[in-house]
Amino acid sequence: MDFSWTEEQERLVGEVTEFARNELASDLVERDAQGSFSRDLWKRAADYGVLGWAVPVDQGGAGYDLVTTVRLLEALGEGCPDNGLTFGLGAQMWGVQTALLHFGTPEQVERFLPASMAGESLTAYCMTEEVSGSDAFGLEGTAIRDGDHYVLNAEKVLITFGPVADAAIVFAKTNPEAGRWGLSAFLVDANASGYTAHPVESKMGLRTVPFGKVSLRDVRVPKDQLLGKEGAGASIFTFSQGWERSLVLAPQLGAMQRQLDDCVQFARTRVRAGQSIGKHQAVSHRIADMKLRLETGRLLLYKTAWLQQNGRPNLMEAALTKTYLGECFRDSCLAAIAIHGGDGYKTAQGVERDLRDAIGGLIYGGTTDIQRNIVAGLLGL
Ligand SMILES: Cc1cc2nc3c(=O)[nH]c(=O)nc-3n(C[C@H](O)[C@H](O)[C@H](O)COP(=O)(O)OP(=O)(O)OC[C@H]3O[C@@H](n4cnc5c(N)ncnc54)[C@H](O)[C@@H]3O)c2cc1C
Repeated sequence: MDFSWTEEQERLVGEVTEFARNELASDLVERDAQGSFSRDLWKRAADYGVLGWAVPVDQGGAGYDLVTTVRLLEALGEGCPDNGLTFGLGAQMWGVQTALLHFGTPEQVERFLPASMAGESLTAYCMTEEVSGSDAFGLEGTAIRDGDHYVLNAEKVLITFGPVADAAIVFAKTNPEAGRWGLSAFLVDANASGYTAHPVESKMGLRTVPFGKVSLRDVRVPKDQLLGKEGAGASIFTFSQGWERSLVLAPQLGAMQRQLDDCVQFARTRVRAGQSIGKHQAVSHRIADMKLRLETGRLLLYKTAWLQQNGRPNLMEAALTKTYLGECFRDSCLAAIAIHGGDGYKTAQGVERDLRDAIGGLIYGGTTDIQRNIVAGLLGL
């Protein structure tokens, strides 16, 4: 087993970290407080190529393999303290682009992918409803065929980019009798008649990426905007969520590296009663545990990405990765706050923001309870 990176990978990692540090870190305290999304930063990230990293070269992307891509996303998360922005980029790459690339017709890919990679068009991924979250396939939205169109009626909630998206992948029932096999996915323009994007909803963390409700009332969608085959909605959801679960927390590892470096520096230089606080085992062991979480999280993420890249089954690893990285970041955030004492509790310091952001990672893409259900099921329980 070879754990080394090539010179080219090392070079890219260095460049991405620098780019993120210099270009994607501005005004974060204010944007977090206001809950405002910066389309300018989104465009900067897109212009740098982030949204094309994992897209094949013949589709206009960089064609990086998934292990390289997660390493670059980690570098992005290390340089860019805006966890909302890096989460949004991941959601777009793994939820939306994966579904398009693997299930879209050439025309659909041509219409949506270049604009997505260029950061000119944002697509929301609309599954969750008031009546269905963890039991995702229990949704009630419908898409009834009417000649060359489908007529969509659905209320989608907690939708990342919902308030600002230009388009949406919407999951709805085309055959209510057939359970999960009666679900289909549609590419819907946000300016279609009957489509309403509701205002941004305030939330605990990840406040720099908007989420909210999307309503569809008798929205007529041409049948060529069906994504995949009719009845393939559950497969599209399961497939794209598998990618998201495997890869979306990569930037959080970078955030954990940033946090660790900051805590080491702080513990070395903060002096109390004549010695640095890092000399206290209570503090230094917290930092050692942060390092342990970071290194073990890395191994799990890289293995999961490698399995995904090589087309090997990784249901188990994906669920473990989502759970473990999510909980590691939360625990390291709590440790970082404890290490910083009262300063860690201050908004301007940024340490508490990481904790608020980390909680989102325990919920979106399937809660950690649901990930544990998957693991237990695969273990035969
Ligand atoms: C930041 C953020 C972004 C999101 N973005 C999107 C998006 O872009 N598109 C989208 O469609 N959705 C999105 N969601 C919604 C997200 O997928 C759901 O919140 C999540 O799947 C949980 O569903 P729920 O909120 O309905 O909770 P519920 O399903 O009501 O769960 C409530 C609690 O019960 C537990 N629970 C429920 N069922 C079980 C079970 N079978 N076994 C064990 N425990 C269980 C859960 O773990 C949780 O603790 C987002 C959510 C967040 C927080």
